[in-house]
Amino acid sequence: MYDYDLLVVGSANADLVIGVERRPAPGETVLGSDLAVHPGGKGANQAVAAARLGARTALLARVGDDAHGRLLLELQRAAGVETRGVRVGGAPTGVALITVDPSGDNSIVVSPGANARLTPEDVRDAAGLFAGARVVSAQLEIPLETVAEVVRARAAGTRFVLNPSPPAPLPADVLAACDPLVVNEHEARFMLGGHAGGYDGKEPEDWARALLALGARSVVVTLGAEGALVAAGGTDTAAVRVPSPRVDAVDTTGAGDAFTAALAWRLARGEDLATAAAFAVRVGAAAVTKEGAQVSFPTAEEVAAL
Ligand code: ADP
Repeated sequence: MYDYDLLVVGSANADLVIGVERRPAPGETVLGSDLAVHPGGKGANQAVAAARLGARTALLARVGDDAHGRLLLELQRAAGVETRGVRVGGAPTGVALITVDPSGDNSIVVSPGANARLTPEDVRDAAGLFAGARVVSAQLEIPLETVAEVVRARAAGTRFVLNPSPPAPLPADVLAACDPLVVNEHEARFMLGGHAGGYDGKEPEDWARALLALGARSVVVTLGAEGALVAAGGTDTAAVRVPSPRVDAVDTTGAGDAFTAALAWRLARGEDLATAAAFAVRVGAAAVTKEGAQVSFPTAEEVAAL
């Protein structure tokens, strides 16, 4: 009945990484390692993570008519993602310029590029993709007005999953559509910052309840090595803790994207929030056992073997 388990609407970036002995001071030039180019962007990451698990996945994004854009598209297709919704041109592909020193501290400059040109009109033009999607997910590395249009463009019965990253104040209609709103601790604090004098010292259960009170239909708070916590709106808003399997974490880059993609896929298959989150924490845990973001995302077999 549905063409896609998951339609991801979001960013695609090339991460350009140079290792340096010391990050440069203003006006200074330093020599670094060979350049490494990694695929990134929360939208592209989520699409690859879902497809690798076996989800029928489509991506709606915008890249530049350039080498980075072609590389990102090629990697999406290699992972099995439907890319007919990826628009090309209008600005260079989004890039993150990253210098990282031996202690792992980094400095990052992001040029949103084509991501900033993904418009509400692009969303309306993709009506065919929306009509065939069981779940639609988004993040905030594209314009907020585009995310708001995603909420309106959903077919009746299509579930909306939002990871508000980087965090920004959400219009009421976007918040009211989130089922769930998926936040890490940092994003939860931001979203609650303007209310009730802040939430420092409170438990994640309190954050979840407060986020529901702000209007989200359901909430998932990811807690790193501790796993996640889920809470649904309605009459029974009790939060449920979902522990993560213990693993040796090597690199947590992209863990949240892998988690959210896995959660959205399992929701598309009809699981309830806590059951879907129990699978998603295993996917997040598997992702942190390997270096990198997209290359670290597990297959369903690898998750089962964890
Ligand atoms: P983000 O990557 O957005 O900051 P988290 O750090 O909360 O989000 O991680 C997202 C998910 O990835 C967690 O819910 C968990 O399932 C998994 N995860 C992250 N770090 C670890 C870890 N050290 N051990 C096991 N699982 C982890």
